[in-house]
Amino acid sequence: MPRVRHKSVAAVQWSPNGSVIEPLDLTAPGAQIFGENVFGPIEQRQRLPKMVFRQLQRTIERGETLDPALADAVASAMKDWALERNCTHYTHWFQPLTGSTAEKHDSFFMPTGDGTALAEFSGKELIQGEPDASSFPTGGIRVTFEARGYTAWDPTSPAFIMDNPNGAVLCIPTAFASWTGEALDNKIPLLRSMDALSKAAIRALRLFGDEDVQRVFTTIGPEQEYFLIDKHFYYERPDLVNTGRTLFGAKPPKGHELDDHYFGSIPERVLACMLDTERELARLGIPVKTRHNEVAPAQYEIAPVFENSNVGSDHQQLCMQVMQNIARRYDLVCLLHEKPFAGVNGSGKHNNWSMGTDTGMNLLEPGDSPHDNLQFLFFTTAVIQAVNRHQGLLRASIAAAGQDHRLGANEAPPAIISVFLGRELDRVFGAIAEGKTGKSTPESFLGLGTPVLPPLPLHAGDRNRTSPFAFTGNKFEFRALGSSQSPSFPNTVLNTIVAQAIDDLCEDLEAAMGARRGVEASLPKVIAKSYKANRRIVFGGDNYAASWHREADKRGLLNLRSTPDALPELVSEESISLFSNYGVLSSREVHSRFEVFAEQYVTTVNIEAETAAGIARTMLLPAAVRYLAEVKEAGLDAMAAELHAQAEAFDAAIRALEAANDPKKHTHKDAIKHGEFMRDTVLVAMDEVRSIADRLERMVADDLWPLPKYSEILFVK
Ligand code: ADP
Ligand code: MG
Repeated sequence: MPRVRHKSVAAVQWSPNGSVIEPLDLTAPGAQIFGENVFGPIEQRQRLPKMVFRQLQRTIERGETLDPALADAVASAMKDWALERNCTHYTHWFQPLTGSTAEKHDSFFMPTGDGTALAEFSGKELIQGEPDASSFPTGGIRVTFEARGYTAWDPTSPAFIMDNPNGAVLCIPTAFASWTGEALDNKIPLLRSMDALSKAAIRALRLFGDEDVQRVFTTIGPEQEYFLIDKHFYYERPDLVNTGRTLFGAKPPKGHELDDHYFGSIPERVLACMLDTERELARLGIPVKTRHNEVAPAQYEIAPVFENSNVGSDHQQLCMQVMQNIARRYDLVCLLHEKPFAGVNGSGKHNNWSMGTDTGMNLLEPGDSPHDNLQFLFFTTAVIQAVNRHQGLLRASIAAAGQDHRLGANEAPPAIISVFLGRELDRVFGAIAEGKTGKSTPESFLGLGTPVLPPLPLHAGDRNRTSPFAFTGNKFEFRALGSSQSPSFPNTVLNTIVAQAIDDLCEDLEAAMGARRGVEASLPKVIAKSYKANRRIVFGGDNYAASWHREADKRGLLNLRSTPDALPELVSEESISLFSNYGVLSSREVHSRFEVFAEQYVTTVNIEAETAAGIARTMLLPAAVRYLAEVKEAGLDAMAAELHAQAEAFDAAIRALEAANDPKKHTHKDAIKHGEFMRDTVLVAMDEVRSIADRLERMVADDLWPLPKYSEILFVK
């Protein structure tokens, strides 16, 4: 069967490692700077001996291990390149389980003893670093006598330079492991999951007669939402500074219903900041395609062009860092929290996901021949099966304290995971499930009168914006990620569950094909069986509607509302055996992540509670008391009585919060029990304090109220 190249290939250009770059317009002002701070293929080719360059490319393209003997040559070229660009230091840049990135800087320069210094950087230093693992969460993996950890160079993600007004640092993307070999980071499991998926997908492609593909890469294109606010307001809000979200603030008189529309025009200072950010990202080789206003006032979105999951995740982390750095240049602060303002739309990160081959195919692109259609339906079926089977794990992969304020509110996907396919695909799968596919010849296969799939709409219109997991033409969009979250772990989960589903379907297909039957004749049965077994996860209606929540319950879908509800899914027997069967995470590694995530939840709520109690007692209550004195002195008895009552209730609520957050109450041995206590007792006490504070904000004289109000923070640009 001749291979038909898919449509998308003409539009976008795939680089060998599965990352794509839109064909660059070399006349565009940004073109000259694109990638100038990256030690990418062009620099590598120019600076490395031919043999070294070729082997490095093979490592990047096929995941072959790099001969350590070549590392010296790479290190030397990298060092020269970095020194020419004013780097004085290098760092192994890695992703510990905190969800952010970490770096420890080492100087290139070694004193020689005669008063001069020599720039040194060998293969050994490139390949391996040794940060102190005890400063990072390990969820019990680290025992005291083995506190050390090491970082190992990831040659598949390009090294880059972080510029600073006073110098520059060479950053080398690395993995982070314990000396006992366990992954202490988010990168190692992601790479393992990409391998697992590649293996499974190639097995399937061989059944479809493809002998060319050597490597399948999962791809991600994250759409990042964020807020930009004036830094003066930020500094006057200890809650924003300490917790990333406002713990107080009455709803502003003006919501988002007026002039701050989605796609509205972008204020000048904000646009200047965005342009600068995009320029920095371009220099780092991160291509950004779209920017626009989001639903809420002062909220925006940035969407880099998709790349392979590993590079895309590194770039996403870098992107968040650059956004925050550049905002400061404009006296703005970039808020990445999932819910910085109560009652105002929160921020998420839409994770566009697909699978691409080293030959340039997108496996979730329908394509234009019956053969391609079948292949597409096979991989789509695998995704549906995976999401249904592991809905709990998928939900757990995006669980965090910040997410609990967002998921399930009428702005973000609900905590119930479901899959949206769109009208056309719904019909196609429905027809296959009902066996309305004629004699299984490709032409009659769909029973829809056409030899190929109907064209699927790639753009808006038919889109279901309420779905947590939506098919959008040639990719799936996992919409439930939090805005501050590293995409690494959710994608590790996604890759692994889909790898398993592909393998399971391959087994069915191999059995159905037997000795003589071809793939075309056998596939409909396999798809029909899987779709019937998993169709409960498919939902095309309004995910916000109460009727859906009832319906989902009837279908037996999970509705894990909060982080303590969701996290146990991570360590279910099924999850643990999935991860270990695919070599993605050992049982110990899964448990360590569970411990770390559960502890992060408790710590986050704990810090919020302390901050809230502090602000309430030392800033807000005094303001109310002062105003009360003024009102009394003015002889306004009714007003004074009301204020007095509120202040008294406020004091009582603050005491209750302090009591709930008293360390003596936090003796839970079980991480989930502790989380439940934070959720059911501490957060409830915080809500009570807040609701009285927000009432007081509307009563107390504005010049006495110590916190900037929502109406200022969100509307002064
Ligand atoms: P929208 O979803 O708003 O229509 P786009 O079609 O531009 O926007 O896609 C949004 C994001 O999806 C972008 O970051 C884009 O790069 C990414 N994307 C497109 N194709 C793929 C793919 N095959 N795999 C992963 N991400 C993709
Ligand atoms: Mg989108």
